[in-house]
Amino acid sequence: MIPSSAQETAEETGLAADGKSGTVSDGASLSRETEKSSDWKLTLVNASHPMEEGYEPELAEIENNYYFDARAVKYLQEMLADGRKEGLDFWVCSAYRTIEKQRDLYEDKVRRLQAEGMSSRTALKEAGTVVAYPGTSEHNLGLAVDIVAKDYQMLDEKQEQTAEQQWLMENCWKYGFILRYPTDKTEETGIIYEPWHYRYVGREAAREIMEQGICLEEYLGEA
Ligand SMILES: [Zn+2]
Repeated sequence: MIPSSAQETAEETGLAADGKSGTVSDGASLSRETEKSSDWKLTLVNASHPMEEGYEPELAEIENNYYFDARAVKYLQEMLADGRKEGLDFWVCSAYRTIEKQRDLYEDKVRRLQAEGMSSRTALKEAGTVVAYPGTSEHNLGLAVDIVAKDYQMLDEKQEQTAEQQWLMENCWKYGFILRYPTDKTEETGIIYEPWHYRYVGREAAREIMEQGICLEEYLGEA
């Protein structure tokens, strides 16, 4: 396996946000939007929606010394247990990260780019396209988890071919999870295809999102 720091810096590659504005809503969908925006399960965190400053979720341990939002951890454990009953071998390789941890990952990336000869201004900008800026990663929210196949722990596109990902992509919504960064939504999410990153949004939203093949930004009218 590869060291966990390498795994974590290898992911969350952000593409530049395109700055598109949301669509205009009528009255009915407006109240639905308001309902969504007050739901903790649907908090949007991305490059243009940083986390509320000082936000710290109540945490509960999953496994491998990783933690998850205490309100949703049982659904994650249920999903892992049910898949394992079918013979799948999941490996949790990231979940909640503190802002400090995210800052370490980000600053480490900046230093490495500067060591390669990049100016500090360019390095600061470039680093954000590879490691999410502190406060803009869903891992800081406590509702995201990275799950890989134990016998294939690489964070790359081939991960999708493992039996573990095939099962997760088909069944995750039943436990309230979505594949957060699908291959055909990199423009809307600003993040590369990540067939290992799952986000808890609750069963109702998860069903709708996975059934329609949309991403969270589109579901929330923020794409
Ligand atoms: Zn992730």
